[in-house]
Amino acid sequence: MMKYRTDGKLAVVECKKCGGNGYISWEVIMPQGFTRDIGYPDSETAECRDCAGYGWIPSHLVVDTED
Ligand SMILES: [Zn+2]
Repeated sequence: MMKYRTDGKLAVVECKKCGGNGYISWEVIMPQGFTRDIGYPDSETAECRDCAGYGWIPSHLVVDTED
C-alpha cells in the first residue's frame, strides 16, 4: 500500500477505487436513436465517490486490515 504525507501531519493513502485520479471512467454503449443508426461505444466519467474527487483518502478513514 502506498502511503505518503502531504504536510507532515496528515497521512493519506491513494484511493484504490480511482487509482488516485479522483475520477472513474468506464465504457458504455450508447444506444441507437433518432440521430444514430447504430449504437456505439463511448466512455463515461464521474467523480470518484470514495475520495470525492481528491484521489486520496486520509489514512484514518481507510479500513484496511492487510497493512
Ligand atoms: Zn477515488
